[in-house]
Amino acid sequence: MKIVMLGAPGAGKGTQARMISEKYGIPQISTGDIFRANIRNQTELGQKAKSYMDQGLLVPDELTLDLIMDRLSQDDCAKGYILDGFPRTIPQAEALTKALEAHDTKIDYAIDVEVPDENIVERMSGRRSCPICGATYHIRYNAPVKEGICDECGAELTQREDDKAETVQKRLSVYHASTQPLIEYYRTQGCMYSVDGTKPMDDVFNDICAILN
Ligand code: ADP
Ligand code: AMP
Repeated sequence: MKIVMLGAPGAGKGTQARMISEKYGIPQISTGDIFRANIRNQTELGQKAKSYMDQGLLVPDELTLDLIMDRLSQDDCAKGYILDGFPRTIPQAEALTKALEAHDTKIDYAIDVEVPDENIVERMSGRRSCPICGATYHIRYNAPVKEGICDECGAELTQREDDKAETVQKRLSVYHASTQPLIEYYRTQGCMYSVDGTKPMDDVFNDICAILN
């Protein structure tokens, strides 16, 4: 089962992708997480990606495509995966379709987590992430048991640099210009589904499971 998660930054793609990954036993692949790991490890790719990410811009397709194609060729992807944050542009989606077609396969479900822009700033300003295991929390909607500490691995939670209000606005406008057109792209491919992302996260998850089942 190959799934693409679509939706604005902060809509809850990562939260849902993690739940789907646990239930269906397929990996969650987040290009944002891979870039952040590269930044932490001070790789050349990380240095290049950081300058774009800090400004709320997309990392250029040529850097992103090599990275994702390499990841999708790994053994744990054989039974499927959930793409979280990729593709984000039409050229990325076309490159993915082409790579899958070369293996006689395709995306089974593109799921748009719909959240209006006015809810996004609150979602992102309250987001806290675990830099070690990648778990995501919200100070109001999904607080960890102990404030500031990851429930899963005990690490100290951090706030993402690009979750500041001014960067959030830029990321939203980049989303509308470059990523939202993917909804039409996957509709044309016949695999587009939407869920109401303003519901509580367990309800959103149930709606997604109803689509996948
Ligand atoms: P994305 O991966 O789309 O950028 P996240 O999954 O990181 O978004 O979610 C953004 C923030 O919103 C996080 O703090 C998360 O805990 C919170 N969140 C996710 N889904 C919901 C929901 N259905 N209701 C309220 N808050 C949510
Ligand atoms: P995310 O963790 O999905 O919110 O992504 C954080 C940032 O990483 C984005 O704002 C982009 O700068 C960059 N990024 C992640 N995925 C992609 C992608 N598929 N294409 C280009 N840039 C990306």
